[in-house]
Amino acid sequence: MGRLLPAVVFLLLIVHISGCAVSNNPQRTILRQLQKGIIKDDTSFVYQLPYEKNTVHLLVQGYFSHFGHKERAALDFKMKRGTIVCAARDGIVVRVKQDGNKGGWNKKYRPFGNVIVIQHSDSSRAGYWHLQYNSAMVKVGDSVKAGQPIALSGKTGYTLFPHLHFIAWRFNKNGQWQQVGTRFKTSNGIRYLKPIKRYRNG
Ligand SMILES: [Zn+2]
Repeated sequence: MGRLLPAVVFLLLIVHISGCAVSNNPQRTILRQLQKGIIKDDTSFVYQLPYEKNTVHLLVQGYFSHFGHKERAALDFKMKRGTIVCAARDGIVVRVKQDGNKGGWNKKYRPFGNVIVIQHSDSSRAGYWHLQYNSAMVKVGDSVKAGQPIALSGKTGYTLFPHLHFIAWRFNKNGQWQQVGTRFKTSNGIRYLKPIKRYRNG
């Protein structure tokens, strides 16, 4: 018993740590290394920032952050309601939801989140969330160019404050979706974005 107790405590500790620590998604580690430049990536597609040229926005949450993105390779750009959201990459609009007119920090608001989804030529997709009610400037089937205005930002759905939630994903061989981190062109060069930094589109 004298030996068993420390072992049990140790086990509980491990369970506890793994249960509430950060995501153990392998992509998290890879993205951290890409952000720091430990892994070099000069082959993947370079996205444009999803807002107008010469405007600056603060990235409030990055990939796999603790608050809301624990399991998501998503980016949150702080934006005043009514800011023009632009396509980050050429593609075809495959989904438009703009009838949501409520938002707040409660799961009950999730169904009200307006979104536009654009499919790219390599069949990956990007989603633009929390858009303002009835603000879509494109419809399903439209071809869009990177930099083209597609809607206004807002605060619809499950969200604490007005922002644009951006996420890119692709489908693997089994048809399951897989989120992907992406590089962006910024005024300071091409990079994987980090939270609590401002990025200028230019
Ligand atoms: Zn988000």
